Amino acid sequence: MSLAFDGLPPLREVMEANGLDPRRALGQNFLLDLNLTGRIARQAMPLEGETVVEVGPGPGGLTRALLAHGAGHVIAIEKDPRCLPALQAVAQHYPGRLTVVEGDALDIDPASLCEGPYKIVANLPYNIGTQLLLNWITVEPWPPRWSSLTLMFQREVALRIVAEADDDHYGRLGVLCGWRTNAAILFDVSREAFTPPPKVTSSIVQLEPKASPLPARLLDLERVTQAAFGQRRKMLRQSLKPVGGEALLRTVGIDPQRRAETLSVAEFVDLANALGR
Ligand code: SAM
Repeated sequence: MSLAFDGLPPLREVMEANGLDPRRALGQNFLLDLNLTGRIARQAMPLEGETVVEVGPGPGGLTRALLAHGAGHVIAIEKDPRCLPALQAVAQHYPGRLTVVEGDALDIDPASLCEGPYKIVANLPYNIGTQLLLNWITVEPWPPRWSSLTLMFQREVALRIVAEADDDHYGRLGVLCGWRTNAAILFDVSREAFTPPPKVTSSIVQLEPKASPLPARLLDLERVTQAAFGQRRKMLRQSLKPVGGEALLRTVGIDPQRRAETLSVAEFVDLANALGR
């Protein structure tokens, strides 16, 4: 049996040996190229001595790259018990540096697994990626215990995360991410890099928390963005009716004829604060 650069078997053999036929319901699009997982891991550097939380390690391609690049401790949350033997083999290869948590990442706050600060690095299951990101950027209190998020999304979602006003992809996600984080798309990953290939191109996105976002109550910001983008083609005086409509807009000096996608994050924050008063 040939071994990969880290002394462990190649990922295709790991999949075969453990009967890991990918399941669509679990968003299983695996990365089997350790050069690519290495490139992703390097985006989260420095890793030496750092704690990294990984969601969905699967057969362990990204996990192995993180450990090979010096991550002090990787805590990997995996829902599919079929992946556990492969991950145990990785844990044995890097004694004391990999903890595998079997469970649903939607139910687990990473902050409950370790002291901060920690980084989150993941090739996310595409069906729950947006919800996981929302969970992490809406934690209270802020700043969070995570110091960076380095995540794979479908390109369409990545564009929504980094979108700013007057961009077709701008919406609730862009406002919340822009309010609390600095977010950037680092590079695209083609469909063919995955086993099996997903339908669309993916992108690696990195988010870093802003130490002092513009002051606003999360709940009010969510109410305003939900109403505004719930009817994004309508003028704000119409779409914001449930939260105060024209009167609310006039309080903060925003033209009621504008549409949601033209408002900057700072203007949404003004509206949220006016709503909360
Ligand atoms: N990290 C591996 C890689 O890059 O090849 C696998 C990535 S695959 C896109 C997503 C992984 O998330 C799968 O291993 C899947 O079993 C796991 N997963 C799916 N839903 C999950 C959940 N709710 N909680 C934790 N892991 C989940």
